[in-house]
Amino acid sequence: MPGRTSDQAPAAPAAGAALAAVTAGLTAVLGGDRVVTDHARRRTYECDGLAAYRVVPGVVVLARDAADVAATVRACAAHGVPFVARGSGTGLSGGALPHSEGVLVVMSQMRDIREIDADAQRAVVDPGVINLQLTAATSPDGHYFAPDPSSQSVCSIGGNVAENSGGAHCLKYGFTTNHVTGLDLVTPAGEQVEIGGKAPDPPGYDLLGALVGSEGTLGVVTSATVRLTRLPQEVRTLLAAFRTIDDAGAATSAIIAAGVIPAAIEMMDALSIEAAEEAVHCGYPDGAGAVLVVELDGHSADVAGEFDDVVRLCEASGAFEVRVAADDAERALIWKGRKSAFAAVGRISPDYIVQDGVIPRTALPQVLRRITELGDAAGVRVANVFHAGDGNLHPLVLFDGSQDGAVERAEGVAGGILDLCLEHGGSITGEHGVGADKAKHMPRMFTADDLAVMQAVRCAFDPETLANPGKIFPTPRLCGERPGRRQGEHPLSEAGVAEVF
Ligand SMILES: Cc1cc2nc3c(=O)[nH]c(=O)nc-3n(C[C@H](O)[C@H](O)[C@H](O)COP(=O)(O)OP(=O)(O)OC[C@H]3O[C@@H](n4cnc5c(N)ncnc54)[C@H](O)[C@@H]3O)c2cc1C
Repeated sequence: MPGRTSDQAPAAPAAGAALAAVTAGLTAVLGGDRVVTDHARRRTYECDGLAAYRVVPGVVVLARDAADVAATVRACAAHGVPFVARGSGTGLSGGALPHSEGVLVVMSQMRDIREIDADAQRAVVDPGVINLQLTAATSPDGHYFAPDPSSQSVCSIGGNVAENSGGAHCLKYGFTTNHVTGLDLVTPAGEQVEIGGKAPDPPGYDLLGALVGSEGTLGVVTSATVRLTRLPQEVRTLLAAFRTIDDAGAATSAIIAAGVIPAAIEMMDALSIEAAEEAVHCGYPDGAGAVLVVELDGHSADVAGEFDDVVRLCEASGAFEVRVAADDAERALIWKGRKSAFAAVGRISPDYIVQDGVIPRTALPQVLRRITELGDAAGVRVANVFHAGDGNLHPLVLFDGSQDGAVERAEGVAGGILDLCLEHGGSITGEHGVGADKAKHMPRMFTADDLAVMQAVRCAFDPETLANPGKIFPTPRLCGERPGRRQGEHPLSEAGVAEVF
């Protein structure tokens, strides 16, 4: 996909001097091996998982501990230089997109699991710890870390906290925000503060609630205290094949209406099944217009009874085949098709946009029908693979970037899908964050007053707006600025440093 790059945008002289001062100071304190100035090495960090946006960072700091982070942020604060935190760089909304005249603080070397307190069901971890490694480390004690993004083998806990990440099992277990009880933070002024701890629900304002999902705009997380969840006694998984998406949607609603909360209900449409078959030969039933992957977990007796209900409800909603995984190998094969689906569409299309929006579950059939109509009208194919249980859509808009106008048509469909989500009472992002990519869509969902209130919160932490600027908010308003109507051009766009959407 053609990129929007500002690789070597010429730095304003004052900004260049400030960054040079920060770089010199940090090199003296942290050592040259932690402060990367070499262009080729900086370029490694020019994008996250959304490669359409690329900016080579002004300088990269490879942080080893909280003291490194604090020293870096203090230097940035002293010279008015912006900074961006980066975990594993798997984000899909350009949240970790660097600043060309700023510092990229890379957390991937901060990877210690500091404490596992199985009795209290808590772990204290560095921000660079990989999601799945935490589960691997806690499973011998009978626990796991419940939020499970599909990227869990590579994404970091710091990134999960910043994005409030979800995953297939968040229908039952909730998003990252439900699993964090404490954070250590370096504030944008460079102070090290502790918020919360092992105990749940500290008194006072819910600062943890504000921090989780704030996409690195309120400071840099240097440690997280997270809940551990007991491994279930029993897990049962089925694959139900339907002729139509409507039938699969009806089955999803029927399961939830019956009072069953599965650990996961995932849906794939015909196009995403085709892609998965081609990539991993998962052997899903022939002729399926949609499949559901439904997983139940918990105590054996509960799971057995509810599982029978789910099979019955799928069949009553039109499932022409229901396959129950007999063992771990069969369960893995069912999940393999679902988990490979994103990458698999690369086999049936040279390019694709992963959209992320959320709708009330009950609107699934109408919205999916409208998505197909939107795609047909634009001559663009859309594959749907998503967390059906909580209405979290991930339409994959397929296109061939080498064809004239294909990018624009695909982007038009991707934008139209967000409109559909909003029309049906949903949101412009389910779990991938706003980042750089969706900042322009924020006014479609929030009024100017809403955005001003959010800015006021942000400015309480970061009055100079140095922490991950240009993300979430559509125009980089200054903290001293009064909310309300402005006459004439925004001063930043007038100066040619900001785009107004
Ligand atoms: C194939 C694939 C599948 C995915 N599936 C899912 C999914 O199922 N569910 C889901 O929610 N997401 C999913 N994602 C998106 C992504 O993996 C998550 O958003 C993840 O949490 C990002 O973690 P990261 O460590 O890569 O963060 P990064 O991409 O490095 O950063 C993400 C954001 O977090 C900020 N940040 C990172 N570390 C810190 C820190 N220590 N302090 C403050 N801010 C910080 C960054 O500034 C940025 O704004 C998927 C991505 C891919 C590529």
